[in-house]
Amino acid sequence: EKTPVTLLGLGAMGAALARTWLAAGHPLTVWNRTPVRAEALAAAGARVADSAAAAVAANTLVVVCLLDDASVDEVLAGADLADRDLVNLTTSTPAQARARAEWARERGARYLDGGIMAVPPMVGVPEAGGYVFYSGSRELLERHRRTLGVPVGVTYVGEDAGFAALHDVALLSAMYGMFAGAAHAFALIRKEDIDPAALAPLLADWLVAMAPAVHRTAGQLRSGDYTQGVVSNLAMQVAGTPTFLRTAEQQGVSPELLHPYFQLMRRRLAEGGGEEDLTGVIDLLVR
Ligand code: NDP
Repeated sequence: EKTPVTLLGLGAMGAALARTWLAAGHPLTVWNRTPVRAEALAAAGARVADSAAAAVAANTLVVVCLLDDASVDEVLAGADLADRDLVNLTTSTPAQARARAEWARERGARYLDGGIMAVPPMVGVPEAGGYVFYSGSRELLERHRRTLGVPVGVTYVGEDAGFAALHDVALLSAMYGMFAGAAHAFALIRKEDIDPAALAPLLADWLVAMAPAVHRTAGQLRSGDYTQGVVSNLAMQVAGTPTFLRTAEQQGVSPELLHPYFQLMRRRLAEGGGEEDLTGVIDLLVR
């Protein structure tokens, strides 16, 4: 009674997904371009198809987890997708996901796009909190929600097939901003007698304490009033920027990660946003 699954792509992520479906008792058919990667899964009970087309023919639910959008084209080129439930977990841009949804529809398949918010060690470990953003066919999602929820959690973000990719990239973009900030912080102490391992917990706690500010930002964006609930206004924050730049200089650290953000803050201040929160920077980014 467990839904049979076809999985194309047994890289680091695909193999991790495969193991959880097998462990949960789902009949699993796999295919990988390099066959040796399927061997361990075959030993664990997976059926190994001779071709991608044969794997697609084996089950209605077809999950794809390949390197990129071009590899999806290559792998599915010869497959009959009519009446398949195609779930594409390959990282793509929103535009690629929308085009892929249309491509699948033309071939008679239902389509769900996914953006994986987890790394392989988080797969099959519910307490790790990993999940997949899904967008596209709601019907497909509801039919397979339990099966799709086996490896990691399920977060549906809408019928627009591009929204999963967009949410994925939005969260990861914010993550890179955070990593950039942490890189600058570590650089500042690099030449001092300060243990990076002593700074790390302080840094982590501070980032966690500051993260909920995004809720205030969201409220300001919704109301259009960027002064709403402001804690430290832009004029005050811009006045503080020379301290950051001078400290970087004194520590022999390049300000190149700080500069772009400070420039945007100054521009917004010059345009009259002194009483606002930092939210006006968003308007400067949107062209
Ligand atoms: P890997 O590099 O480990 O595996 C890539 C897979 O794609 C392999 O199965 C590879 O086959 C296959 N592949 C690549 N090019 C082709 C091609 N032209 N034709 C056929 N098969 C091809 O990547 P991951 O498994 O880590 O990632 C898979 C997807 O999951 C990516 O889109 C990635 O962005 C996403 N993802 C990965 C995360 C991670 O931490 N690993 C986190 C979140 C998302 P072969 O074995 O023959 O080379």
